[in-house]
Amino acid sequence: MDSGNGPTVDRRRMLALLGTGSALALAGCSGDSGNGNGNGNGEDTPTPEDTVPEEYATATSLGGTERNPDSLSSKSGVEYQEQPNDGQQCSGCSYYIEDKNGDGTGACAIVEGNIEPDAWCVSYVPYEEDGAAEAVEVPDDASCAVCGMNAADFPDWNAQTVHEDDTREYFCSTGCAVTYHTVPEEFAETDADIAGFWVTGFESRELIDGTEAVYALETDSDRLEDPMGTNPVPFADRADAVAFVDEVDYLSEEDIVELSDFDRELVEQYRGRHLE
Ligand code: SF4
Repeated sequence: MDSGNGPTVDRRRMLALLGTGSALALAGCSGDSGNGNGNGNGEDTPTPEDTVPEEYATATSLGGTERNPDSLSSKSGVEYQEQPNDGQQCSGCSYYIEDKNGDGTGACAIVEGNIEPDAWCVSYVPYEEDGAAEAVEVPDDASCAVCGMNAADFPDWNAQTVHEDDTREYFCSTGCAVTYHTVPEEFAETDADIAGFWVTGFESRELIDGTEAVYALETDSDRLEDPMGTNPVPFADRADAVAFVDEVDYLSEEDIVELSDFDRELVEQYRGRHLE
């Protein structure tokens, strides 16, 4: 990567020792803005729009590269242009540092000066976000993270979650899954946030997004053939949940909840013996 067109460290230090007026005069003599924020267009003095605010000086780019003010390419050196190039632009570049002060302009980890999000240069590297978390096939030997039963033995009821550090856990049933999700500090082996959560839908018998599902709060352990006695019954479609509760007198639509409605008191009804 081109980094030889930025100001040298020694000259930067010299400029720091000089007053602003002297610094600009010196920069003008040398054909460089002298602050690592040159406009790169052959102009000799920095313009306000090319002075990177302090918060960008050592900021980290979309792709995780930390900006080093002492090792930046000039805009001219990377053929910076104010327009996108064939669909590519700075806002989609791994080196782009997003706007931090609301002025609509960002910076770059390897190119000096303010950087427009719809600009482009030859050092462009596409930024690819981490893919969304996905459910996987439950391993044959995966134990339920709450009750310890073999999760693969219950394909009509099992569930799983993955944390942001890729720690993945499996559950025999919805009751164990929502218990883990509600009080992860009692079961999880990681402090990382939960990035994905899936339960087996009662209608589809396939894994569905547990964060989008609704749950019928079944209380009769004899109604269904489910593990661990009783479980909240997950549905991808609320209409199916309504039909489910309408089949019995002891449930109503008030017994249909979302994942965020589960609290410790509620999960204790399902897995209290596994809670501290
Ligand atoms: S395209 Fe060039 S100037 Fe824009 S963010 Fe990427 S490396 Fe920096």
